[in-house]
Amino acid sequence: MGKVLIIGAGGVATVAAYKVAKNPDVFTEIVIASRTKSKCDALVEAIGNKAIQTAQVDADDVEQLVALFERFRPDIVMNLALPYQDLTIMEACLRTGVNYLDTANYEPKDEAHFEYSWQWAYRDRFEKAGLTAILGCGFDPGVTSVYTAYAAKHHFDEIHYLDIVDCNAGDHHKPFATNFNPEINIREITQKGLYWENGQWIETKPLEIHRPLNYPHIGARESYLLHHEEIESLVKNYPTIKRARFWMTFGQEYLTHLRVIQNIGMASIKPINYNGMEIVPLQFLKAVLPNPQDLGENYEGETSIGCRIRGLKNGEMHTYYVYNNCSHRAAYEETRMQGVSYTTGVPAMIGAMMFLKGIWRKPGVYNVEEFDPDPFMEQLNKQGLPWHELFDIDLEL
Ligand code: NDP
Repeated sequence: MGKVLIIGAGGVATVAAYKVAKNPDVFTEIVIASRTKSKCDALVEAIGNKAIQTAQVDADDVEQLVALFERFRPDIVMNLALPYQDLTIMEACLRTGVNYLDTANYEPKDEAHFEYSWQWAYRDRFEKAGLTAILGCGFDPGVTSVYTAYAAKHHFDEIHYLDIVDCNAGDHHKPFATNFNPEINIREITQKGLYWENGQWIETKPLEIHRPLNYPHIGARESYLLHHEEIESLVKNYPTIKRARFWMTFGQEYLTHLRVIQNIGMASIKPINYNGMEIVPLQFLKAVLPNPQDLGENYEGETSIGCRIRGLKNGEMHTYYVYNNCSHRAAYEETRMQGVSYTTGVPAMIGAMMFLKGIWRKPGVYNVEEFDPDPFMEQLNKQGLPWHELFDIDLEL
């Protein structure tokens, strides 16, 4: 059906590559390219499919990307490197006529700030070129946005309250580690909180608002209000939403480490001079922290991510909770990666599948909730991320 190029060879890219290889009727040719080619080769070896091609690329460099895309002529590129590379890859897609998908919105390296405006600015150019760009196709953003679209299509006339709840109740047996790229993860969590209420954005101190929430099969976990990117597009695409918030669980041990890291300046993204060399403290920290890709082997427990929604159907107020629980062990047994990489890599593959099947294909730049959720929801059940629904329950929020 089509040729896919995966950029990146980290945790998320590894899961996506395994899953792409398991769907040969859709992904008829596969290329994996990243900064370190040996990691792509090791991945191909692990998957055991010699037909997958590999290449080296610095995705910060548009010229290198253009040469790569011209060499392999993919139908779609899955950007599973870092959010810093979103714009260079989109630029190269426009120059070579390639469609685009990612899992995280652009942020500049020198400013811990993320928002969609930079990528939405490409809308006209993608539209004129007849190319599709699918933004934020991981779990959150990604599946949570599709869940919201599905709720709006089937269960509500108007969504009024949306709470996205993300619980990781797993234990990797390390004193401190992040579940995806440490640099991106720590930048996200140490930011101010932000949520949408009555037509405006409300800012909070980092991790200021928190409360225990109950998660299916897990129980109560302290959950912290964070700024998360999908809220920005969802309140725009569903203007009936009166309040939208995002919650994530953290353990006390994690938060204590995080506080120390910040207090001693190791979360800083300002370059410093060390022994005549310029280093960024957070990048140095990443180099000494456990690699998220190596956490899988001893990871126990599960993640539980979903949407808790309140709104009107036929003039009456209803509640709805749609969620997935993912076992770290099952994820590892299938892909050698832990559950957080798994819950991101699987939806990325499904998004690319939706494009190649011609179901999610329209020129322009779109967030995932702007496409038909039904075929995507169907694939979630088939590809390892089954979902469950609860109706008219107490949402706790
Ligand atoms: P990793 O750090 O494990 O992997 C990143 C990969 O990108 C590495 O292989 C790295 O290369 C490669 N890379 C980095 N810079 C470049 C570059 N300039 N050129 C080419 N390759 C490069 O990250 P994860 O797999 O954990 O995360 C990947 C993405 O997924 C991130 O954008 C993250 O924000 C997003 N994410 C989204 C989630 C969601 O639900 N939507 C959840 C979790 C993550 P090298 O191996 O040489 O370092």
